[in-house]
Amino acid sequence: MAWRSSGTSNAELVENMVRNGLIKEPEVKEAFLKVDRAHYAPSFPYDDSPQPIGHAATISAPHMHATAVEHLLPFVLPTDDRPAPRVLDIGSGSGYLTHVLAELAGSRAVVVGVEHIAALRDLGEKNMNKSDRGKELLREGRVRFRVGDGRKGWVEPGEEDKKWDAIHVGAAAAELHQGLLDQLKSPGRMFIPVDDDDGGWGQHVWCIDKDEHGKVTRKKLFGVRYVPLTDPPGH
Ligand code: SAH
Repeated sequence: MAWRSSGTSNAELVENMVRNGLIKEPEVKEAFLKVDRAHYAPSFPYDDSPQPIGHAATISAPHMHATAVEHLLPFVLPTDDRPAPRVLDIGSGSGYLTHVLAELAGSRAVVVGVEHIAALRDLGEKNMNKSDRGKELLREGRVRFRVGDGRKGWVEPGEEDKKWDAIHVGAAAAELHQGLLDQLKSPGRMFIPVDDDDGGWGQHVWCIDKDEHGKVTRKKLFGVRYVPLTDPPGH
């Protein structure tokens, strides 16, 4: 799959992902067209493959970003019941997905990217500052980049009582951390790669739903290769 959606421009990459059925919803297409991957991927931005961004991290492949957004979409788009969605992007890395999620979540939303490496927190912010739109989202506090251990989730200072409608985890967790689950709203949805529990190297993405009564259901989606959700280097 890695090469099939590659393009020579952002628009071509997005069109190819639509044609290959990776982007299905018109809102998702629109959001991906608004964010130029060249601001986030240092090399081959329109290739459908992961690219190194330093600090042993990668910007995920476009088809993975598209798949994650398609799954989280119902909990990211603003509705009458959820006029101001709160979205958490753990392991924000390049900041690309954080930006795409903010385009979808609407003008009253808060999207927070969490990195455990300060230099990568800064990279996300630097990349967003490359466009006027990114600058605006940062200035208005609709996108915030923070340093923290994403395995514990994230609580915004002054917003201690507020949970998250959607949580995206961009690195593979050793387990489905309870702290993260506790921070998911009812209803809410989390997209998280988790190591298989057979002690091997396999990982699968799980879609975790919490319904309005707090009941949690877990759906195993597909196998992946993500960098691990770990202690920061040197600890
Ligand atoms: N969504 C990013 C993916 C970056 S790769 C993108 O597409 O650009 C995964 C990221 O998770 C890395 O940047 C890594 O630094 C970060 N990470 C790993 N463990 C973490 C932890 N415990 N808390 C927060 N971020 C973590």
